[in-house]
Parts: sequence; C-alpha cells; structure tokens
Amino acid sequence: MRRTVIAGNWKMNMTPSEAKKFITELAPMVKGLDKCDIVLCVPYVDIAVACEAAKGTNIHIGAENVHFAESGAYTGEVSAKMLTEIGTEYVIVGHSERRQYFGETDTTVNQRTKAALAAGLKVILCLGEVKDERLAGITDEVVAMQTKLDLAGITAEQLKNVIIAYEPVWAIGTGLTATPEQADETCGVIRSVVRDLYGAEAAEEITIQYGGSMNDANARELLSKPNVDGGLIGGASLKTDKFTSIVLAANA
Ligand code: PEP
Repeated sequence: MRRTVIAGNWKMNMTPSEAKKFITELAPMVKGLDKCDIVLCVPYVDIAVACEAAKGTNIHIGAENVHFAESGAYTGEVSAKMLTEIGTEYVIVGHSERRQYFGETDTTVNQRTKAALAAGLKVILCLGEVKDERLAGITDEVVAMQTKLDLAGITAEQLKNVIIAYEPVWAIGTGLTATPEQADETCGVIRSVVRDLYGAEAAEEITIQYGGSMNDANARELLSKPNVDGGLIGGASLKTDKFTSIVLAANA
C-alpha cells in the first residue's frame, strides 16, 4: 500500500539556528504520528544541522535541488554524493520556481532525478501546469508529457524511490488552491501515465502528492481524495503549528 508523505519545502527561508529551533519544537508535536512520512526539505546550508536535530525523531530531511554531475566545474551547484554524505534522504527536483527562475527544463529535471536516484536519494519530482494551460483546457496533456519526459530512462526499481508532487503553478504561493476534485483528477491523470509506463502495480504503489497553498484549513479535504497521497507544502511548512495540523490531517 502506498505511503502518504507530508513534505515541507522551506524554499529560501530559515537560517541553520532557526532550522534547529524549528525541528526541536516540531519533533514532540509530531511524535508517534506514523500514518504518514514526514519530510522537511531545507536550504543546503541547513541540512547538516537539520539532520542532527532530527536524529531519533520521525522527521526526515531533504534538499531542495541537486545537480546531475558527480563533480566538476559547476559553480554554485551541489552533487547527490555531497547530500547523502551529510545524511540527506530526500531531494526535491523540478520545482516550478526552479523551472521558472533558473531555466530548468524537463531534460535537466530528468538528469537531476537520475543522478539523485543513482546516489540513493528519494526524489520528490514536481510537475504541474501554468495558469494559461489550465485555462486552455490542456492540463492533462501537459502533466502527461512532463511525467513521461521527467521519468524517461528511470527503471521500475528506481521508481520505488520517486514521489511525484503535482503542483499547479498558479496555486504555488498564491493562496489559490486547486479544488479537491481538480487535485484528485490531475493526480489521477499522472497515475494513469505511470500505469501506461510501468504497469498497474507501480501505479498503485507510487505516492502522488498535491502541492499549491495547502494549509491547515484545506489539508483534510485535499488529503481525503483517493489519488492524493500527501502534500508538498511551502508557506505553511514554516510554522510548526500549521505544519503539525497538516500532519494531523494526514493521520486522521
Ligand atoms: C511549494 O513550494 O511547493 C508550495 C506548494 O508552496 P505553497 O504551499 O506556499 O503554495
């Protein structure tokens, strides 16, 4: 049975000391809530401190991106091996802010995903349509194409370490949320593409999250949908009480 995963994406927020304080405060609040996996994806410089603070808790630590090369002349980038050596378990790849502001394409997203999986990281692979695509009625085609391109060359065995985060770009950081029906329907489209590519069992097993202004008020309804297996949460992951409410909704 597939796991529900509640993951925070801190983006460019929280210093190392703030990260330590946050995790120390969060750990007792989510202790024993075992119906979902709990992940915090944090800025690179916070990872070591976050891993230390999360030791012995049910909180797992992830990065927000990873480079596809093992090493080399890529100023400012971080490799998968650098991440695993300091205890990182998860990594977000293909977030819309990376695609929008830093020129990421499905090709680089695919390369980064492959490198992360080869190094033993679990990947939270983000995809989703922009507003004009939803308004034009081509959401299904867009997410199907992204799913195919981003997963190209990834084996069925490797897919077990992939979580897909369906994130409609128009809902990220905007306060606009997809309706539970829209989230369920589009996560279902992604699941059917996984079925075509990898078979029925893989499609049943894969965790597909919804992301886009999920918060303590709307999480329960979104998470109640059959194709929504968790959330990738930006803004609401920066407050321990709000994030805990979402974890509680996933454990209800
Ligand atoms: C995100 O960063 O992936 C995200 C969904 O952000 P927010 O929850 O703030 O919309």
